[in-house]
Amino acid sequence: MTAPASADASSSLMEKIVALTKRRGFIFQSSELYGGINGAWDYGPMGVLLKRNVKDAWWRAMVHDREDVVGLDSAILMHPMVWKASGHVDGFSDPMIDCKTCKKRFRADDLDGAICGQKPSKSPQNCGVSDLTEPRNFNLMFETFLGPVSDSSAKTFLRPETAQGIFANFANVISTTRVKVPFGIAQVGKSFRNEINPRNFTFRSREFEQMEMEFFCVPGTDDDWFKKWVEIRQRWYTDLGLSSGKLRLREHDKLAHYSKATTDIEYLFPFGWGELEGIANRTDFDLRQHQRGVRTVGKWDGGDLSSVELAAEDAEYHKGKLSYFDDEKKQRYIPYVIEPAAGADRATLAFLCDAYAEDSAPDASGKVETRVVLRLHPQLAPIKAAILPLMRKDGHPERARKIYDDLKRRFFVDYDDSAAIGKRYRRQDEIGTPLCITIDYDTIKDGTVTVRDRDSMQQIRVSEDQLRNLLEEKLGLTESTMKPAV
Ligand code: ATP
Repeated sequence: MTAPASADASSSLMEKIVALTKRRGFIFQSSELYGGINGAWDYGPMGVLLKRNVKDAWWRAMVHDREDVVGLDSAILMHPMVWKASGHVDGFSDPMIDCKTCKKRFRADDLDGAICGQKPSKSPQNCGVSDLTEPRNFNLMFETFLGPVSDSSAKTFLRPETAQGIFANFANVISTTRVKVPFGIAQVGKSFRNEINPRNFTFRSREFEQMEMEFFCVPGTDDDWFKKWVEIRQRWYTDLGLSSGKLRLREHDKLAHYSKATTDIEYLFPFGWGELEGIANRTDFDLRQHQRGVRTVGKWDGGDLSSVELAAEDAEYHKGKLSYFDDEKKQRYIPYVIEPAAGADRATLAFLCDAYAEDSAPDASGKVETRVVLRLHPQLAPIKAAILPLMRKDGHPERARKIYDDLKRRFFVDYDDSAAIGKRYRRQDEIGTPLCITIDYDTIKDGTVTVRDRDSMQQIRVSEDQLRNLLEEKLGLTESTMKPAV
């Protein structure tokens, strides 16, 4: 991760964003009541809506709106041989260094960015007190045991990525649906990595959610599909309002062993550039590896998986269990795979950081003060409109309730009669509500309401019965984006 130009300004911006997400019920530290744990986060009432909207937008773009992608929801717990065949048992590790003085553990490739356990303003390399070990590999998978006996045959892992559940179900999907190569299988779900240094808020967590799709294509068409998916995925972020100037593509020059090409989509967070999504051409590596895994499993005696050798590949591997029969060509082969793998938490954090803005607005007495506003895309905003009766009397609440009941059948709306109107506007601005609808004395007289725009703060008066159309039009919400995606 590259640090941005002015570190002080950026860290104070990040502090403000973290404070807002706590103050307004977006994100809390996990187990805060007990002092918190590192690398796990809870999404509060606003956060769960925002993150769900991000995941829904992904699902809609990747599954609903396409004819060539189907969905899946595979289990987090899988047969341990899955992780041997995928390469995670032997290779999913980061080199780490321990400090014998402060007893902290650091990623060897990120010592500069690490914080000394005794002198928090220094890195372990220049704190003057550290006594560092040689780098050792540390597997990032969380171990767990199936059933009551904790021996090696019962050991498995919390999945570190959702992708392997897709590969393991490749044959099931082929035999139960009408999919034909090229096609994709998409899934959204939790993944777990025992990161050595979880940090930058939710950016690097130990428990997080991924949105991954494996797109199976004919070998030889893979380079074209790879290019297409990089474009499609980059556009997804900008279509949802992310500043294109803060997005960049980073092609990997050092490739993972399974990859023929990898490009990351990165976002300029206040703490620097960070990966939102990786798009990789994984060739036929995974399906072939799982064919080897299946050949190995019958011979496995339940011993330590890291000392198990995977069975050699069958000479006729292209006709194996995970091959595909092309009806038209009358040919069997193992498809190539393009994988766009995104993080739901990182995308949510990027949308939050991008939406955060401060401007000025007059308070109730006309004094200009700083206003904090989340300029979220309407599709992502947790609440689409707030219904605000001016008074708690004179028929305002009854009229406002009627409007609320009508709109809530179609949109996620909020009813708020709790404080002075200015304060209520500020609260809605801070959670990113695009429109506020105020019911006042004129509403009672002539049936019109005030609609206030979050970004321009301009107010217009419209008749109550125009509200539905106005909301649809102003928020750019279509029938399909108003409904939950799954
Ligand atoms: P990094 O290099 O940042 O560790 P990665 O390249 O290992 O990420 P992938 O394995 O490609 O990540 O996972 C796909 C996506 O899952 C990432 O682009 C990211 O959005 C998300 N992701 C991965 N690790 C984490 C994590 N520890 N916390 C939150 N999101 C993560």
